[in-house]
Amino acid sequence: NRRVLLASRPVGAPTADNFKMDEQPIPKPGEGEVLLRTLYLSLDPYMRGRMSDAASYAAPTPLGSVMGGGTVAIVEVSNNSSFAVGDLVESYVGWQDYGISNGKELVKLKGVELKHPSYAVGVMGMPGFTAYQGLIDIGNPQPGETVVVAAATGAVGSVVGQVAKLKGCHVVGIAGGPEKCKYAVEKLGFDKCIDHKSDNLKQQLQDACPKGIDVYFENVGGKVFEAVFPLLNTKARVPVCGLISAYNATSINHSEIALAQFQGAILKKRMRVQGFIIFQDYFIFYDEFKKVMGKWVEDGKIFFKEDVVEGLENSQNAFIGLLEGKNFGKLVIHVGDV
Ligand code: NDP
Repeated sequence: NRRVLLASRPVGAPTADNFKMDEQPIPKPGEGEVLLRTLYLSLDPYMRGRMSDAASYAAPTPLGSVMGGGTVAIVEVSNNSSFAVGDLVESYVGWQDYGISNGKELVKLKGVELKHPSYAVGVMGMPGFTAYQGLIDIGNPQPGETVVVAAATGAVGSVVGQVAKLKGCHVVGIAGGPEKCKYAVEKLGFDKCIDHKSDNLKQQLQDACPKGIDVYFENVGGKVFEAVFPLLNTKARVPVCGLISAYNATSINHSEIALAQFQGAILKKRMRVQGFIIFQDYFIFYDEFKKVMGKWVEDGKIFFKEDVVEGLENSQNAFIGLLEGKNFGKLVIHVGDV
């Protein structure tokens, strides 16, 4: 059983030294347990938070432990009557070839996921659910409104923009580089997409949002939010999903004035700015989401691009790249085959 362990806590951007790969015998499931073999490992930005021991909504990964992570796995041995050998499940085996589960957190793949198992950690799984639920529940997009989303071609952002288009909105993406922007418009159907690396981001965003911004789905923070902030309309909604531009930061430039301006705008424009942690806040709606999204994916209404990296041994570098915008689409590691 190959495993990727957390060797040390990163200061700033993670490096290869923060990880260590080892090999152990394949574990044996006890009573009521199943042995799972990983097919796909999902790599997600939140893992940077788990590598750190700063206080957060979830406990840090202990040093020397297997890096946690969502997986798609096949049941290899079952001592649990709810699961048969050969079942495909959404699981949390983490960065390793095999894992043991008591079955409680496992979700059997069905429908479109059986045709495309890695979707269970993508459009049909945690990132797709985050996009859908955060946009619908907090963003509450109405036909004709302007919705802006950053990290627009990624796992969450690509779904946010497409769902907003299905709801009849004017959708503007923000992404890193001309290739991602072209793809957001031509393939995902966004109305516009602005490159956050260009030097006139603020002006371009203003031109792309002539009626201001009604919903800003926040994935990034930092200078992207600075460009968005003045354009937010009265009664704007801001689902705060992630702040990836700060995940590797060792210090933040605090400004009392900026904070006061932000609070003043929330008050005067009566904006709704709300953070959420998808499974902690919305788990009860997961089944319902799968039905809605499954149909959209089957009907070709939602398109989903994956960035599939071959081999568990390449997880570390792929993860480091995710925090630098090197992924193009949902980052998954292909670990094994059925
Ligand atoms: P993505 O697939 O979008 O990959 C991350 C992308 O973030 C990169 O490709 C890059 O896109 C962008 N990025 C990275 N660094 C920066 C930077 N410094 N400035 C601007 N953009 C940057 O990831 P996900 O879709 O999985 O996640 C998107 C966000 O959603 C993250 O903030 C994540 O933490 C959050 N999230 C929150 C959840 C919740 O429950 N609240 C659940 C799931 C995700 P580009 O090249 O276009 O800039």
